[in-house]
Amino acid sequence: MDITLASDIKYLKGVGPKRAECYKKLSINTVKDLIYHFPRGYIDLTSCTSIKDACVGEVCAVAGRIAKKLPPARIRKGMTIFKAVFTDDEDDMTVVIYNSEYLFNSLSEGEPIILYGKISGNFIRKEISSPTVFKIGASKAMQPVYSVTEGLSQTLVRSTVQNALSVINDRIYEPVPKDILKRQGMCSLAFALYNIHFPPDNYSMQTAKRRLVFDEFLTLGLGMMMLRGRNRQKTSNKLYRCDIKEFYKNLSFELTECQKKSINECIDDMQQDRPMSRLLQGDVGSGKTVVAAALAYFVYKNKKQTALMAPTEILASQHYNTFKEFLEPLGVKVGLLTGSVSAKEKKDLNQQIIAGEIDVVIGTQALYQQSVEFCDLALVITDEQHRFGVEQRSSLSKKGENPHVLVMSATPIPRTLALMIYGDLDISVLNELPKGRQRTETYAVTGKLRKRAFGFVRGELDKGRQAYIVCPMIEDNEQGLKSVKSYANELSQNEFSGYSLGLLHGKMKPKEKDMMMLRFKSGELQVLVSTTVVEVGVDVKNATVILIENSERFGLSQLHQLRGRVGRGSEKSYCILVTDSPTEECKKRLKIMANTSDGFELSREDLKMRGPGDFFGSAQHGLPKLKIADMSEDIEILKNAQEEAKRIYESDPELLNPENKGLRSLIKELFERRSD
Ligand code: ADP
Ligand code: MG
Repeated sequence: MDITLASDIKYLKGVGPKRAECYKKLSINTVKDLIYHFPRGYIDLTSCTSIKDACVGEVCAVAGRIAKKLPPARIRKGMTIFKAVFTDDEDDMTVVIYNSEYLFNSLSEGEPIILYGKISGNFIRKEISSPTVFKIGASKAMQPVYSVTEGLSQTLVRSTVQNALSVINDRIYEPVPKDILKRQGMCSLAFALYNIHFPPDNYSMQTAKRRLVFDEFLTLGLGMMMLRGRNRQKTSNKLYRCDIKEFYKNLSFELTECQKKSINECIDDMQQDRPMSRLLQGDVGSGKTVVAAALAYFVYKNKKQTALMAPTEILASQHYNTFKEFLEPLGVKVGLLTGSVSAKEKKDLNQQIIAGEIDVVIGTQALYQQSVEFCDLALVITDEQHRFGVEQRSSLSKKGENPHVLVMSATPIPRTLALMIYGDLDISVLNELPKGRQRTETYAVTGKLRKRAFGFVRGELDKGRQAYIVCPMIEDNEQGLKSVKSYANELSQNEFSGYSLGLLHGKMKPKEKDMMMLRFKSGELQVLVSTTVVEVGVDVKNATVILIENSERFGLSQLHQLRGRVGRGSEKSYCILVTDSPTEECKKRLKIMANTSDGFELSREDLKMRGPGDFFGSAQHGLPKLKIADMSEDIEILKNAQEEAKRIYESDPELLNPENKGLRSLIKELFERRSD
């Protein structure tokens, strides 16, 4: 039979139904899946070590042969240890294989092999446990190492991939238009696919990888752009120009230039035939909320409704209070709908919402539940979007007829990255802080100075200010809770006896958290001891110092968010980063923290050091998974791919041009992968 990329893998020589089941465990179903099962690393066989030079504790590739297989030892039920003597004709060592009779049987005495794995044992006798085994003749220098699973050996996967590539051979079509490849200096896809598996040298491997990374970014970038286009069907919520002067007059402060600009950009958007779809990016404290409120007012003047969704109850109720302050004097009715609202209240609220008696509804996830219905929803705002998935955002949108969407994000990220991740959104940026703000002074100290740091905090309290003390809940369980509680107790009995302290942690009921926050906000509590639940968005102007324990546990962006809890008024503020056992790496990070107050810069550093997975947490939800590209490492390729994507999109937005046909199917594939 004729084998194509789409063929089931079981038809490949040497696979069959049984092994096909094993491949399924790796999500490999078709020949194409197999070819796109890229190696997770390579072993350079030209740099094998001898047994003598293989260091205990290091991962090594050692060439030699099996001198003798020893009888298996059954340790206990279900646990058998297989051992063999391995020699390179100068020294020998022991190969230890746990339980895998399959692997053990595949070794035969005298056959030349390379073992790859961690060396253990001692100077007298070295051991290598559960190594990866390579059977080679005089073969290529670079050997691919695959993720495998029970029933599949490296050798087997390697030869099956080789077989697949040779069967498919010259039938790998080129999905990317030639002129782009030429401009970007990219190799052909056929070259890339062969050389990512079997590169003769490092250079070929890099060349192949560059091409495959480029394809992924190009596909993702272009796909996101098309998604944005698709979401822009006509809206029945085209709004009319109207004056929001009263709103400005009611404010107790002057808006910054970038706040005004962002408001105008959004208001412009909402007067178009297509719905607004915009990201409002601003550093912590840059004043995103007031922008949102201005827009809600604009919508109110158009006699329509706004919904704002926040990630936590604390934030929802904070927004509720802020919105009331800004909007109620102007006659706007604001409602709060969260999980902790009683069933009866909820019912009343729902009735008022559907009747259009409430103009702005603020809430948590509760907002997009089935039961909530709007009378005329024209604007959906989500705060701190990285906590929500694209799906949640759109399920709230479904409650209106193609409403306008504003996403507020407090994680400043480089523009190229934002374009990729939020490719379906336009972007407004708040890049200046309100007037009169002072830079928060930041110190990194070791545990030795903890007492002095607490003394400093007391000094601020004695001036009438308030403080946050952040202790990470290391384990999110009873044990973790106990340690947080005893930490807070300890503080209130010793360092802060005579002061009023409150404790805020993630295991509290939403209502309790709210109460605690309110007591802190009202000034009744002087110190809020908290786990990171306080991280996002909480706004208490009188708090001027934040002390962060175990600061080495946090990423820069997260520390920046935490630091953003202070310095929100005109008073000088301080951030003290405490760490007990700083490594060099950690010292470096904390120093960057102390010297930098620009969130964009910090996020770039973060991205470099920790990678995007960590950075966005669950943000990746709703984004297709990338196989080989890494948004933090391959920034240069990402930029180029984004530029090319834009060029293509502008000349052929639906990808109808025959030369873009290949790209269209790549996009379809990538975005289909997202849904499983
Ligand atoms: P974030 O962007 O971090 O969400 P907020 O919207 O919570 O920031 O605003 C931070 C604080 O700054 C709030 O107390 C808000 O009232 C205040 N604020 C916002 N804009 C201005 C401004 N233009 N001038 C002075 N204070 C402002
Ligand atoms: Mg905020």
